[in-house]
Amino acid sequence: MVAEYVDDDVSAYSGKVRPQYSAMLEAIRQGEVDAVLVWHMDRLHRRPIELEEFADVCTKAGTTVATLHGDLNIGTGDGLLIARLMAAVAANESDAKSRRTRRKQQELAERGLPSGGGPRAFGFTPDRMHIDQDEAAVIRTLASRLLAGEPLVSLTRWLQDSEVRTVTGKEWRTTTVRNLLLSPRIAGLREHKKQVIGKAAWPAIIPEADHERIVALLTDPARRTNRTARTYALSGLLRCGKCGAKMVTGRTRDRRRYMCRSGPDFGGCGGTMISATVEELVIDAVLYRLDTPDLAAAIDGRTRADQSAVALSETIAADHAQLEELAQLYAAKAITAAEWLAARKPIEARLTTNQRRQAHRAGSSVLAGHIGNGSALRAQWPTMNLGRQAAIIRALISHVTIHPGTPGARSIDPARVSITWSV
Ligand SMILES: [Zn+2]
Repeated sequence: MVAEYVDDDVSAYSGKVRPQYSAMLEAIRQGEVDAVLVWHMDRLHRRPIELEEFADVCTKAGTTVATLHGDLNIGTGDGLLIARLMAAVAANESDAKSRRTRRKQQELAERGLPSGGGPRAFGFTPDRMHIDQDEAAVIRTLASRLLAGEPLVSLTRWLQDSEVRTVTGKEWRTTTVRNLLLSPRIAGLREHKKQVIGKAAWPAIIPEADHERIVALLTDPARRTNRTARTYALSGLLRCGKCGAKMVTGRTRDRRRYMCRSGPDFGGCGGTMISATVEELVIDAVLYRLDTPDLAAAIDGRTRADQSAVALSETIAADHAQLEELAQLYAAKAITAAEWLAARKPIEARLTTNQRRQAHRAGSSVLAGHIGNGSALRAQWPTMNLGRQAAIIRALISHVTIHPGTPGARSIDPARVSITWSV
């Protein structure tokens, strides 16, 4: 009986499981095989250890092995020696080939060139060296909206609504948007083995400083990964005027409402409820406040008075300079790679912490361009998605206290609503 064992697309060298090879070995062990005919020994084994096992199994079972290219009988001492030599040469060649590939990759990385392979990168031309202007504009919009506090889920919906597709023509998901925004590539940085190793040869789409703020923001463990879309612009902002508890959102008789709820999960008094139309009232106040001179003065004052923020950005800048200096020392071979890594660690840790702190302070940047411009924003407001609206509201408001109302009242009495501004 003749049987054929074929493992398609699995290189003997890869070390991956070859089911057919294993089956053949088992058949030899069971004494079912008189002879093995193979195209070439290097198709059978690339790793010397496999040859040893194979030779052992064949010898015990009395199985003859023949090859079509280069007759070889591993049943004899000479035949086995030759097979061993061939296996050793093959293993070395494969090793050398992967060493060459690794060296080539390292070299490309050091020169800041793309590594090639895989689909084109979003924002770039197929050679990965030039910017695709339309896609770059999309990336810049995503980055600035993310930094303004808009959640990933709302950015993803915006991409879907705008019918922007990924390079493979698929719809965006929050994970793909996240990966895109986190990639050093868009800031003109070259990454190798998951480490940024320097400037890339291609131009940047967003500034390096923005890239760092995005990384700090998206990798912050404290960040809530709220994947459900926001449907209440004021969720978490309302306080019960009777007991001070945070009001929760929900529907009663199919109307959206904010309510104080009692019970172990909520801890409120359950005595206050208000229709979600309160949102209009609060948003109106926000847009009005954006136009007041008070606000411009408050923000200006806050920025200038905040000496610790200045100190923070100075520390960040100093750490960047130090990292740069270390990289130069390494490039000049004044320090070893191990010393470089060891010296970088504490600086990078400090940098990450400080950048996170800076990202948290970025609230006022949400308002950039909107201060003194409330009427323009008012016109734009209905077309903005909820995530963005919520980011603007939260940049201005600390919380809103809802006082108890008259039961059965048809419209909201503005006296029930008192806003505590944060700026
Ligand atoms: Zn209450």
